[in-house]
Amino acid sequence: MKIDDLVGKAVLITGSSTGIGAAVARGFGSHGMRVAVHGNSNMESAEQVAADVRAAGGEAIVLRADVRDPAACTMLVKAACETFGRLDILVNNAGGVVQRSPIRDAHDDLFEEVMALNARSVFNCSRAALPFMESQGGGVIISTTSLAARNGGGGRSVLYAASKGFVSSFTRGLAKEVARFNIRVNAVAPGVIDKPNKSATTPAHQIDAALRMTPMRRQGTLDECVGAYLYLASDALSSFVTGQVIEVNGGLLMP
Ligand code: NAD
Repeated sequence: MKIDDLVGKAVLITGSSTGIGAAVARGFGSHGMRVAVHGNSNMESAEQVAADVRAAGGEAIVLRADVRDPAACTMLVKAACETFGRLDILVNNAGGVVQRSPIRDAHDDLFEEVMALNARSVFNCSRAALPFMESQGGGVIISTTSLAARNGGGGRSVLYAASKGFVSSFTRGLAKEVARFNIRVNAVAPGVIDKPNKSATTPAHQIDAALRMTPMRRQGTLDECVGAYLYLASDALSSFVTGQVIEVNGGLLMP
């Protein structure tokens, strides 16, 4: 299946050297898009994703930035815009749990890091993209939030859940603010998605507990997340959709 209006569109995907972001980059590449693959600690993997994008028929550049740094977010977005001459779609995807901790033991440093990575980076990258999108007549912002934004997280991940709560609320508020500039703002909320090294941040018993409550009785795959991003990126498919969070969770939590 080809989504014709995506061909040639310029997109920056933060956190696209691995996981969901890498799968989305490959998916966009297969639609002939110009993809800015972004990495930070694993640039070899970012280069591999860029090669996959090219092999799939897209164009790719590779950019590096630590999105916890506001200035780095601004430079990252600027670099993508200047290389492509425009930015049609920004995907704010970089994020993670950082470290599980009960709140009574959580230090201010952990709070700062979780918020900088998951919440402030979305604000910084979106803010940087808006002037470019306004001047080119429109654009699309898609952020990766989480099921955790609605259920409080899977155990000792309150700060992560709260930071994703920011992402979901930011999505709705910004959608209202920039609709008049023809900019749509939406989010994707993955549930329990299998990825390499998942056990590093999520203990097996927590995954098992979630699966018992999931009607589909399994984790999602990285590739099963991609369709939601393609849908939201495409004006042909979702031109009247803004301020929405699409849940990709096998039925684990229903609105
Ligand atoms: P992942 O660890 O493969 O991806 C996270 C990406 O963020 C990586 O590419 C990493 O390089 C990047 N990143 C982390 N810290 C960074 C920093 N300081 N600067 C720049 N980049 C940084 O895991 P994933 O599951 O693919 O996660 C992608 C997004 O999906 C995250 O926002 C995550 O919170 C969200 N999510 C994942 C799940 C799941 O079950 N896998 C569920 C809900 C939400």
